Amino acid sequence: MLCCSKKNKVYDETYKPKTKSTIIDDQLTSKEFTEQFIGEVLSCGTCDKAFTLRENAIVASCGGCYKFLHCGIAGKCVGPNCLFKIKGIDYRETWCVNCVPKNAIINIENIGTVECDCLCRECLDDPKTPNKFKRKI
Ligand SMILES: [Zn+2]
Ligand SMILES: [Zn+2]
Ligand SMILES: [Zn+2]
Repeated sequence: MLCCSKKNKVYDETYKPKTKSTIIDDQLTSKEFTEQFIGEVLSCGTCDKAFTLRENAIVASCGGCYKFLHCGIAGKCVGPNCLFKIKGIDYRETWCVNCVPKNAIINIENIGTVECDCLCRECLDDPKTPNKFKRKI
């Protein structure tokens, strides 16, 4: 007699299908995204002034405090913890002047636009960050 001890496959109840949020919407272009927000009045995380995206070319949100910024932008962090790859394109986290360590020269020398380099606290302490960025005052 053949033994049929083979266990029936039990449906794993913990299995859950991937949630919607894990799928990046390919359809929404950055232009559409901007248009969604362009009329909104935001308040700046640094100076508390209200501004709209329409008035200000430079707009970013800080990776530390998540506030929208129209001034007081330290720049984009050059460290490994703030580098993301989305669809093959490199993105770097933007930080405000209040959230980056003020004893690092990179955070003092050039600030003010999202094109500037800066270093956040986490990346300043990270051994993988090149030492040339870590010069302190
Ligand atoms: Zn901040
Ligand atoms: Zn401001
Ligand atoms: Zn960083």
